[in-house]
Amino acid sequence: LLQLYVPLNALGFVYRNLRQSLIDLEQLFQLLDVAEDVRDPPGAVPLPLGPGRVRFADVSFAYDPRRPILRDISFEAAPGARVAIVGPSGAGKSTVARLLFRFYDAGEGRIEIDGADMRTVTQASVRAAIGVVPQDTVLFNDTIFYNIAYGRPDASRAEVEEAARLARLHDFIQRLPDGYETQVGERGLKLSGGEKQRVAIARVILKAPRILLFDEATSALDSNTEQEIQASLDQVAAGRTTIVIAHRLSTVIDADLILVLDGGRIVERGRHGELVALDGLYAEMWRRQSEAARLADQLARVGSAE
Ligand code: ATP
Repeated sequence: LLQLYVPLNALGFVYRNLRQSLIDLEQLFQLLDVAEDVRDPPGAVPLPLGPGRVRFADVSFAYDPRRPILRDISFEAAPGARVAIVGPSGAGKSTVARLLFRFYDAGEGRIEIDGADMRTVTQASVRAAIGVVPQDTVLFNDTIFYNIAYGRPDASRAEVEEAARLARLHDFIQRLPDGYETQVGERGLKLSGGEKQRVAIARVILKAPRILLFDEATSALDSNTEQEIQASLDQVAAGRTTIVIAHRLSTVIDADLILVLDGGRIVERGRHGELVALDGLYAEMWRRQSEAARLADQLARVGSAE
C-alpha cells in the first residue's frame, strides 16, 4: 500500500501545483487520473450543441470558505465575441477561467454554456467544448507531429499540416532536418515559449472547440513573437467565443468586452475606448503600460544606435 501511496501522493502534489495556473489542463487530466473536487451529478447529460454563449450570473467563489475570492461576477460572452479579463495580479482572473473549465463549482450563482447550467452537464462535454491555449504548454517527448496531433489524435497528416500552417509553425517545422518527425522535449528540440504557445494554438485548431480560453503569457515576448501569436490566435478565434486572460493591454484593444477585475469583483466593464474615457483603474493601467512600452522602445533605439 505504501508503495502505491507514495507516487499517488506525489502526483497529487504535482497536480495541485500545476492547477495554480492553466498549464495544459486537458493533458493534465488525461495524464494524471486523480480525484477532482468536482464530480458529475447523477443524471448529468452532455452539454447540448450550441453556438458557444457563456454566461456568469452572480457567481461567487472561495477556495477556502474563510477567504472569499470572487464576488458577484456577472457577464455574458455572446457567441463569437471576444471577452478580455484584465486586472492586477491576484485579482481572480485565472479563477474565473478555472470555474469556466469546471475545475471547481461556483459557490453561489450560475455558470452557463449555451443556457445549460454547468452543474447539470458532464465535465467531459464541457472540456470538449472548450479549447485552452495555456501560458505554458507541456510537450511530450515525441515528434512535433504527435505533439500537434494531440489536439485530435485521429487527424490526418494534411489536417495537422494545415493546423500548423494556420498557427504559423509549418515553415519553421519544414526547415528542421527531420521536419514533422523531429523529436521535441528533454532530449530533442527545445521550443521557445512563443513556439510552444503556437503548438497549443495548432492543437486547438484541430480540436475546433466552440469556446476558446487563452491565457496570455505573463513573461515578456519580443514584439515579433507577440504579433505572430496574435495573428495565429486571430485565425483560431474567428467565429468562436474567446475569453482571454490578458496581461498586455495592447492585445485587448479590439475586445468586444473588457472586464476589469480587482479584489475578486468586476470594478469596470466596457470597450477599450469607454474604459479609457472612464479614467479609472483601466485607464491607469493603460497609461502605465503605454509609458513602459515607450521607455522600452526608447531603450531599444539607444541600444541599436550604439
Ligand atoms: P495573476 O495575474 O497573478 O495570475 P489572477 O488575477 O489570475 O492573478 P488568481 O490566480 O485567480 O489571480 O488568484 C486569485 C486569488 O486566489 C489569489 O489571492 C490567490 O492567492 C488565490 N488562490 C488562487 N488559487 C488558489 C488555490 N488553489 N487555493 C487557495 N487560494 C488560491
